[in-house]
Amino acid sequence: MAIREIITPSNEILRKKAHKVTNFKDPKLQTLIDDMVDTMLDAPGVGLAAPQVAVSQRVIVVRLPDDEESKQEYGEEAGVLYVLVNPEIARASKEMLEGVEACLSIPGYFGTVDRHESVTVKGYDRSGKEVRVKAVGWLARVFQHEIDHLDGILYIDRASKVWRAEEMEDEPVE
Ligand code: ZN
Repeated sequence: MAIREIITPSNEILRKKAHKVTNFKDPKLQTLIDDMVDTMLDAPGVGLAAPQVAVSQRVIVVRLPDDEESKQEYGEEAGVLYVLVNPEIARASKEMLEGVEACLSIPGYFGTVDRHESVTVKGYDRSGKEVRVKAVGWLARVFQHEIDHLDGILYIDRASKVWRAEEMEDEPVE
């Protein structure tokens, strides 16, 4: 296991449509997943997509924090590690929710993005078993953000407003 370098938009891999995983037995896939988890936790971040570590494969990892405050706010979802291969949004609520996002690939910035309030994500776990995850609120937002990465889409493409981190105290944060 190792921490990998997180790339920024100057690397074109971040803008490419990532390839579907076809061989779950490939030891490189398992190493990639382990490294992605380490890299996400080290950053720290709540989600990471393989293109962010310069691997053009459809793999994401997501984990909401599990400190006391997060436990109260997110309940059972706090601290749960999701590893999803070839994830797709199977269902999305009509209701949209505005919220603030950041991205490990675009350090020092925040933006306001409209996302579906809830989504059902289908995909495969690291062993190739089919999985479905229902997500609401922040977890749903993180899944949408990470799945966008697999299509070369960054949150700044969807944001109604983007600002530098040091200006944050002047901005409403929800
Ligand atoms: Zn991101």
